Amino acid sequence: VKKVSKKYEAQGSPVKQAAVLGAGIMGGGVAYQSAVKGTPILMKDINQGALQLGLDEANKLLGKQLKRGRLDAAKMAKTINRITPTLSYGDFNRVDLVVEAVVENINVKKSVLAEVEGHMPEDAILTSNTSTISITELAKSLKRPENFCGMHFFNPVALMPLVEVIRGEKSSEAAIARTVSYAKAMGKTPIVVNDCPGFLVNRILFPYFGGFSALLNDGADFRKIDKVMEGFGWPMGPAYLLDVVGIDTAYHADAVMAEGFPDRMQHEGENAIDRMFKLERFGQKNSKGFYQYE
Ligand code: NAD
Repeated sequence: VKKVSKKYEAQGSPVKQAAVLGAGIMGGGVAYQSAVKGTPILMKDINQGALQLGLDEANKLLGKQLKRGRLDAAKMAKTINRITPTLSYGDFNRVDLVVEAVVENINVKKSVLAEVEGHMPEDAILTSNTSTISITELAKSLKRPENFCGMHFFNPVALMPLVEVIRGEKSSEAAIARTVSYAKAMGKTPIVVNDCPGFLVNRILFPYFGGFSALLNDGADFRKIDKVMEGFGWPMGPAYLLDVVGIDTAYHADAVMAEGFPDRMQHEGENAIDRMFKLERFGQKNSKGFYQYE
């Protein structure tokens, strides 16, 4: 605990141009947050529809700020112009830092990370927003593992203060310092943590989901569990939280945790996340999860 809570003081050089890979729930949120705090960001995805969704989400969040009088139309336009949606790596030769936020799949991530590394300046920093996958393992796909570390945002990015900056075995101090600086420039509260499956927060959250699943297997009603946890003072219960996170993402993350901590995180037979995944009820992203969305 001491190690984790020790204040990180080193100053990294500022990030003037960022990029995010993936324009989904997290990539869109990272793009919005970077833009709103003044750092221009390229947002790359593999399909136009996803890019549009990412931009729509940023526009929606900015529209809320406009309504509340926190910015005017000119500032809104200026902010949205700081996000450059793209389907290519064309402009990646001028980025200082990249946040990878594609699907939670080790093989996809390794190949995307190796690909983007080839388009970035040699001294630029590459980070992954993975929820659970070891940074040391992901670094094995890279030519410059010293320039790589974890940068784990929480959902929704605009609201959640915490960012875990994960130190892989080969991450350099310069990579950590620059990532911490970027997190601060985005108005976030970074903590530097060592590498292991799930890092810090998800080592707490996934056992909680496990407890929730066990209650469902015992016959509990997920709506009642949500009400109880709200009564306990948490902003939302586990079923609603899983819908927000995305059941597909939670399913893949759960598998990484089970493999990483077989004694504590492996469960016999199917759990609620497995069942929902099989039913393709992915949560808010496809309008059906534990709850139904319009
Ligand atoms: P998502 O499914 O909403 O979005 C993933 C996006 O990646 C999609 O738009 C997809 O088109 C895009 N993509 C896939 N392959 C790509 C490629 N080769 N290049 C560029 N884009 C590509 O997923 P998400 O919830 O945003 O999760 C993204 C990452 O963030 C995952 O690693 C996840 O574990 C992590 N994360 C998620 C949450 C959460 O609550 N959802 C929280 C923290 C971290």
